[in-house]
Amino acid sequence: MKSDIRVCSAWRGTHDRPVYTLSDTCPECGADAENSAPAPFDPADPYGEYRRSLKRRRR
Ligand SMILES: [Zn+2]
Repeated sequence: MKSDIRVCSAWRGTHDRPVYTLSDTCPECGADAENSAPAPFDPADPYGEYRRSLKRRRR
């Protein structure tokens, strides 16, 4: 993982904008914080292409 930055899981209903934190809970509302980049596909991931080609090879 390239970063441990998390985002408040309830920010859409609680805050005007995403609330980022390094801890497990939101510092403002106390909700769970979740990984800010849970998407399996990250176009900025320098190793993404390598991982995807590995997957294709195994199939
Ligand atoms: Zn929050």
